[in-house]
Amino acid sequence: MKYAELVGVYNKLENTSKRLEKAYHLSEFLKKVDSAELDKVMLLVQGKVFPSWDERKIGVAARILIKAIQTSTGINAEKTWRETGDIGKAAEKLTACKEQATLFSQELSVDKVFDNLQKLATLEGTGTVDKKIKLISELLTSASPIEARYIIRTTIEELRVGLGEGTIRDAIVWAYFGEQAKINYSVEENKLKVENRGEYMKYVDAVQEAYDVVNDFSIIAKIVKQKGFEGLSEIKMKPGIPIKVMLYPKAKGIEDAYTIVGKPAALEYKYDGFRMQIHKKNKTIKIFTRRLEDVTAQFPDVCEYVSEKIEGESFIIDSEAVGYDRFSKKYIAFQHISQRIKRKYDIEEMAKRYPVELNVFDVIYYNGENLIKKPFSERRKILVSMIKEPEYLKLKPAEQVMTENTADAESFYQKSLDAGNEGIMVKNLQGIYKPGARVGYGVKVKPTMETVDAVITGAEWGEGKRSAWLASFIVAVRNTETDEFVEIGRVGTGIKEKSEEGVSFGQLTEMLKPIIIKEEGRIVQIKPEIVIELDYEEIQKSPTYSSGYALRFPRLVNLREERSPEEITTLEDIEILYESQRGRG
Ligand code: AMP
Repeated sequence: MKYAELVGVYNKLENTSKRLEKAYHLSEFLKKVDSAELDKVMLLVQGKVFPSWDERKIGVAARILIKAIQTSTGINAEKTWRETGDIGKAAEKLTACKEQATLFSQELSVDKVFDNLQKLATLEGTGTVDKKIKLISELLTSASPIEARYIIRTTIEELRVGLGEGTIRDAIVWAYFGEQAKINYSVEENKLKVENRGEYMKYVDAVQEAYDVVNDFSIIAKIVKQKGFEGLSEIKMKPGIPIKVMLYPKAKGIEDAYTIVGKPAALEYKYDGFRMQIHKKNKTIKIFTRRLEDVTAQFPDVCEYVSEKIEGESFIIDSEAVGYDRFSKKYIAFQHISQRIKRKYDIEEMAKRYPVELNVFDVIYYNGENLIKKPFSERRKILVSMIKEPEYLKLKPAEQVMTENTADAESFYQKSLDAGNEGIMVKNLQGIYKPGARVGYGVKVKPTMETVDAVITGAEWGEGKRSAWLASFIVAVRNTETDEFVEIGRVGTGIKEKSEEGVSFGQLTEMLKPIIIKEEGRIVQIKPEIVIELDYEEIQKSPTYSSGYALRFPRLVNLREERSPEEITTLEDIEILYESQRGRG
């Protein structure tokens, strides 16, 4: 398939903000893609060349792109980049200049673009920079201007066509089951008519379920195209491939928790640590974060405990690693161990300095059996039986009691807080494990006023002695209906001048600089990637920000490096928080 055909879809997707229209364009395109190319196309439409859980990353620095554009066009891209604020558009503009002089030599194929981009991730050793420049400029030399735009954006992993997971799922359903479900979409009216709603929802749910366990739309689209609906049942959970973690909504207190999950319920300590989904297969252990990133190499201590203490040929468990002080043996807050997550060197030393205890709270797969449909009480039994000789400060099942008595629950809650935990979890004994969903088979109860996890979408350079730093940050929450980030405030408080004191301006500036999308005077626009936790005094309605709300006196509490922008506070959450504070007042 010609790359130009894919680029045609990118352009349509970029030119509309309507979710249904995006699903329509993508589904019409998918109908034309043949099986052999479907897996590559599915990744490329998401701006990727590896599934999200794959540890390989394209990893190309801006200076390499500038050199590659220079090699293919003969023009230095830096100035145009600064003017357009978008390196993809800069490449497009410069390719257009060059094109007047020479006609591009050969039409690009999807295969060629995909293969060159994948190769970028595998290069190592001397001469790597030159090889990378060559791979990219080779593509750019054959690219039309608009193709150059998307090649560059894919290279920097910033496609910007606004395609969320829900839209891709719907596009797959429309493309392959549209006829069976009798759906009809009109672009003019932006309306979807579904004649056979029951049938339609069956397909949507089945595709979603399959996606939850493989996290890869390529596999799903391919199997559906080849084998239809029946094919989906072949998609099986496999240890080694991460699945989306189940999430837990917040309850207002213990009574509210019981109302949501029912009585009796299992109450567990809510450890303030770092979620780990741990897989074992053929004696190999893999650890994934809640964002499904592979952090196995950073936690050799956890791998050791798991192989020593958990029985089973193959399994997937869900757990929380909590840091403790190596001298006092008391639990310490998440911030202290968070530095282990990205660490690439001195790993053994870090493991000694910041030891963790693993608290296992769920099991999803055990010795060839997928357990997600089993009730929680049964999963817990299996879990306890898998752990031989639980050991304090190493590995154990999460502390649990089963009760329907509020007084007992209150005292367990107090005991958990006294032990240095964040609160408790209250879990429905019959609840299944629902990957990726905040369904309420378990809820969290914690005493603090709910903080907000927001993503940074903009910032302003400081003045005077802060002029080398980004000093004020525009933050946004997620509107799940439109798949957009909507602004909710500006924060400059809670950030430190010295790095020893906590999250500092210098640290944030370093993190944000490489993902600046556009600069205008002192204001910069930032790729929504960095998630921060915010405290605030109150939520107010406000016309100033696109969410329609504003955080009053927001203050940065912490970085949330383990969270992806998809997982942040939603506009719906904000509405609930807003209403609940009104109730209080
Ligand atoms: P939150 O991060 O506030 O949404 O709370 C949910 C998180 O608490 C989960 O993602 C886990 O990382 C963590 N957690 C700690 N202890 C438990 C537990 N016993 N059961 C489930 N999750 C837990």
